[in-house]
Amino acid sequence: MRSKLVVGNWKMHGTRESCSSLILALKQGLDGVPEGVEIGIAPPSVYLPLAAKLCADTRIQTGAQNASQFEQGAYTGEVACGMLADLGADFVIVGHSERRALFGESDAVVAEKFAAVQAASLQPILCVGETLEQRKEGITADVVMAQLAAVLERVGVAAFENAVIAYEPVWAIGTGEKASPEQAQEVHALLRSDLAKQDKEIAAAIQILYGGSVKESNSAELIAQPDIDGGLVGGASLEAEQFLAICTNADN
Ligand code: PEP
Repeated sequence: MRSKLVVGNWKMHGTRESCSSLILALKQGLDGVPEGVEIGIAPPSVYLPLAAKLCADTRIQTGAQNASQFEQGAYTGEVACGMLADLGADFVIVGHSERRALFGESDAVVAEKFAAVQAASLQPILCVGETLEQRKEGITADVVMAQLAAVLERVGVAAFENAVIAYEPVWAIGTGEKASPEQAQEVHALLRSDLAKQDKEIAAAIQILYGGSVKESNSAELIAQPDIDGGLVGGASLEAEQFLAICTNADN
């Protein structure tokens, strides 16, 4: 039985003060979230030490939104996975569509980052998802399977034993327009069956999150789908009450 997981992606929002207040509010409401639901937050990486410290005595895991594929060296402005581990990260989001679209991360680069995250003993959360044009063209399945295949080819299926996948249709991110539970379930089932071709046990055990305009009001019906194991939440994770409600709704 897979447990449910809800991860907040705070993107490039907040200050030291607002991040602290948000975490304190989450901690205050944590008792209301059923025990079985796993929770993670990914603040901007500069606030990761603060978040890791404030969450140390709780069940909230902390992670980063991105990392370098390189271990160390002359890569100005980059942050290595080992450094994130050193700061208290538990997981790293890789291949978010904003990284792919705005910072030109190819499938190959995403695969390198996935490998680097695991090499630093952190858990990768691999994001895949199609654009609106791709969905209209009817190539959603090809796109997400190609994104998954690039990583599988680089690291092998065994690496997915300690990984999470997030299906995030690009057209649903930050737009208020979510995929219907049926649309999301179809892609989640496809990703799981694609993995099952290589390893049935890993496919059955891996958590596949849905991301894209998840809110308190739509989270229960999405996460109730058989292959949806939780959510990757952007905007709604910046409000403690909303995020806690989504976490609570995940317990179904
Ligand atoms: C995201 O950025 O991963 C995301 C799903 O954002 P939002 O929930 O705001 O659509």
